[in-house]
Amino acid sequence: MYSTRMNAVKDAFSRKNIDIDRPSGKISDYFAKNVFTLDKMRLFLADDVFEKVEEAISTGNKINRNIADQVANAMKSWAIEKGATHYTHWFQPLTGLTAEKHDTFFSPINSGKGIESFAGKNLVQGEPDGSSFPSGGLRTTHEARGYTAWDPSSPAFIVEVGTSGRTLCIPTIFISYGGESMDYKAPLLVSQQFLQKTAVPVCNLFDRNVTRVIPTLGWEQEYFLVDEALYYARPDLSTTGRTLIGHGPAKGQQLDDHYFGSIPERVYTFMLELETEALKLGIPLKTRHNEVAPGQYEFAPVFDEVNRAVDQNQLLMDLMQRVARRHKLRVLLHEKPFAGLNGSGKHNNWSLKTDTGVNLLSPGKTPRKNIQFLTFFVNTIKAVNDYADLLRASIASAGNDHRLGANEAPPAIISVFIGSTLTQVLQEIAEKVKPGKMDEYEKMDLKLNIHNMIPDVLLDNTDRNRTSPFAFTGNKFEFRAVGSSANCSFPMTILNSIVAQQLVHFKEEIDELVQSGEKKDGAIFRVLRRYIKDCEKVLFEGDNYSEAWAKEAQKRGLSNIKSSAHAFDFLQSKDAHKVLVENGIFQEKELEARYEVLLENYQMKIQIEARMLGDLASSEILPASIKYVNTLLENIKGLKEIGLNKSAYKSQLELVEYINEKIQNINSNVTAMIKERKKINKTTDVSKKAKAYGDKVKPYFDLIRNDIDKLELVVDDKLWPLPKYRELLFVK
Ligand code: ADP
Ligand code: MG
Repeated sequence: MYSTRMNAVKDAFSRKNIDIDRPSGKISDYFAKNVFTLDKMRLFLADDVFEKVEEAISTGNKINRNIADQVANAMKSWAIEKGATHYTHWFQPLTGLTAEKHDTFFSPINSGKGIESFAGKNLVQGEPDGSSFPSGGLRTTHEARGYTAWDPSSPAFIVEVGTSGRTLCIPTIFISYGGESMDYKAPLLVSQQFLQKTAVPVCNLFDRNVTRVIPTLGWEQEYFLVDEALYYARPDLSTTGRTLIGHGPAKGQQLDDHYFGSIPERVYTFMLELETEALKLGIPLKTRHNEVAPGQYEFAPVFDEVNRAVDQNQLLMDLMQRVARRHKLRVLLHEKPFAGLNGSGKHNNWSLKTDTGVNLLSPGKTPRKNIQFLTFFVNTIKAVNDYADLLRASIASAGNDHRLGANEAPPAIISVFIGSTLTQVLQEIAEKVKPGKMDEYEKMDLKLNIHNMIPDVLLDNTDRNRTSPFAFTGNKFEFRAVGSSANCSFPMTILNSIVAQQLVHFKEEIDELVQSGEKKDGAIFRVLRRYIKDCEKVLFEGDNYSEAWAKEAQKRGLSNIKSSAHAFDFLQSKDAHKVLVENGIFQEKELEARYEVLLENYQMKIQIEARMLGDLASSEILPASIKYVNTLLENIKGLKEIGLNKSAYKSQLELVEYINEKIQNINSNVTAMIKERKKINKTTDVSKKAKAYGDKVKPYFDLIRNDIDKLELVVDDKLWPLPKYRELLFVK
């Protein structure tokens, strides 16, 4: 379609903004218009039925058939009223995308007549063919069936396509014939229940009224936009999501003029349309702005309960792609689309809230509230300290490998930043709390000090460390190492689970001390004091991007696993078994399967990139370079013919030699890379294979790219076949 670079550039630079259709009126008039919220459900259901549904949502219990029938009927009436003709179970298989299979409400009855129907059983369970989704060996082909099961805790919604396409989407989990999870959502829901089970008793140490604790998530989605024509003229971008070659532009982000800069109009129209669509779907987008790199932007919503926030993020990523197409743009969700520029992350802001409306990670105004805050704060740090490797595994992917530890991204070393005020608070506890029983005076002293100090955190906005992979930011932790294309479920599942596990230990220790006669507050302080000491190694306030930190971290014994293929091994560790399997987040088989899927995915991504790079080098870059060499040779020949001596064409000759040397290098590296791949492809062990792809094939990428990028600088610009960074990065 866009065969040559120049055509693509011409198209891209002559785009006009398209008109968009926005509802008139206030956002509150159309917010969640296409969501079957609890409020709407209430209108359609009898009170007692509605109560049962509400209860099932909060407890995670099953909804019986009779109730399901009534909910299905309500959903159908609402959806049909809104013009929906079809429904689909909407799920999140391990492909990283969302999946759907549409069925119509309509069924013919007789002689040209029909009705719209939707029974409880269609709501509760679906049966898409499971055989084409990654399962890590959980199903054999004769058991290809997969099941989707309704998740009432995330509301159904209607996706609008064009003026007439309306489909009711029902969030579901996706399981195999044998009942094992084959998606991101099922383990997330279990981890929430686990957290609920362990956090409530800890909360009850402070407040008897709490009956539920729910993790919350506010994600920040970073992404790049490129023009559609240029995107197609870069086969690497359109097949792998990132540029495998390309010299940095003369002007990149060094002037720092993009971040929060004014948004180009075409991008702005895209954002407006996307926001409108997102808001109708109940995604409460709050912030939009330019990010640091040229062509990079961010969306962030108001946070929600983790489960719903995950669905909103998946839905948004989907919407982004669709809306961008209408604007002849493409969204890049890859973690590192452009070498040398900032990559994209998805900060996961995480906290815990109670059904009494308290944010457990928000420092309170009373001493009592502050002990509660400190308890959850320190326990979270302790969980990260003890299970840092599991967190590292939770964010591992081929894409994120390029981002972690590169410009302006947290390293692969997991550490926690808490800011100077809280560092001081923790120090005080560590120093003042003495082993043995505390007297009342000591406890009062400590409490009051904390009370006086903590509110400063909120005021102290400068005390933020943007380099940390896991930072406390006033009333939540921000897990910044998550990649932009990730489904938040996996890192959230792991975080929920390790904190829940930690709370189990904590409660046991407190109970034991209390039984031995210690007063509750004293016991809490003593246990926290020990945790604070244990966690010294994971707390880091300095520059995470520096070389010095990598060295220091090594001294502290923190892992720094740069390759995801190796990081996945943590999922096979004793810790993983203890936290994830023993608590039922994953069955043994499921965890094994997940490990395999992640490795396969990692290996295949590198394999595809390797093929793509080889193709580009051989069929695009080398021919263009050879053509240019021929022009140079012609020129040299001409100069010779008119009798000039060598000094007249010395520089051309050197250039020919230079280009020729690069051509030879590229050729031999591509050949060596292919040979390496062939060798590795004989390996059947998924882990060995993925590691070999990462450790042995991937290093060729840089070698090959370096030479190609050097050629880009000297080969005649008109002959260069692929859009350059300077063309890709600045959307007009
Ligand atoms: P920054 O760019 O400085 O990290 P933002 O305002 O862009 O800050 O992002 C803050 C994010 O944190 C928002 O998505 C917000 O919804 C989320 N957030 C705020 N409070 C909580 C909370 N209690 N739990 C989860 N997320 C939260
Ligand atoms: Mg952030």
